[in-house]
Amino acid sequence: KKANRQFHEKDSIIDVDGVKIGGSNFMMCAGPCSVENEEDTVELAKLLKEAGANTLRGGAFKPRTSPYSFQGLGIEGLRILNIAKEETGLPIVSELMGTEHIDIFVDMVDCIQVGARNMQNYDLLKALGQTNKPILLKRGMSATYEEWLMSAEYIMAGGNNNVIFCERGIRTFETATRNTLDIQAVPVIQKESHLPIVVDPSHAAGVRYLIPSMAKAAVMSGANGMQIEVHQNPEKAWSDGQQCLTPAEFKELMITINMLLEIE
Ligand code: PEP
Ligand code: MN
Repeated sequence: KKANRQFHEKDSIIDVDGVKIGGSNFMMCAGPCSVENEEDTVELAKLLKEAGANTLRGGAFKPRTSPYSFQGLGIEGLRILNIAKEETGLPIVSELMGTEHIDIFVDMVDCIQVGARNMQNYDLLKALGQTNKPILLKRGMSATYEEWLMSAEYIMAGGNNNVIFCERGIRTFETATRNTLDIQAVPVIQKESHLPIVVDPSHAAGVRYLIPSMAKAAVMSGANGMQIEVHQNPEKAWSDGQQCLTPAEFKELMITINMLLEIE
């Protein structure tokens, strides 16, 4: 199998429009859950870059639990992300929900995110295998490691080896947090696979106060990066405000993370 360590013993390094991820190259991906407007997105991207982020996330097509919740700005959101990229140089990570927009994403996005809800959408994974874009493959909310690895296999079978795993918490019996961060995923996936794995403490915790401690745990686990949601005014965010850090909180966290990365 192509994702397996046996296929490729050395850590794979994935190139996200010039930003290397994997091995000792850390992915620091941050941004809003949803792109809301140009002004705020560009301002936030600048603050994130200054604080040390090396990639910008932002949802344009949103997989919301309710069809009555904000569904994302769509292609307009991708256009705004590209303006933020022009201003900061930060490569863009954004979620693709269906094959109908694949050509637009190949054109406008540097790393295509497959969300937890689509981890086993095999037609989507096969189509992404036909591109050469980096893919951020989030873990399904009740997916085993084996199922997750097989989803990467679907992408790689088509010839696209640029896969990055993202642990974003799994569903457990606990209801006090949104999900349960499975930190063990990091060493397990790194043992089984040569591909990088990053951690998303935001969707795992679902509450702001847990993000710094889970982010620190992610670094010390040896993760190849992380993805964190940030918003200038979390109370007013159009999605996932309760788990967003403010830019100031993110900046402070980055200082700690950079210190830990030096130790680790
Ligand atoms: C997101 O990144 O905003 C998101 C919806 O993530 P997940 O697929 O992990 O729930
Ligand atoms: Mn979100």
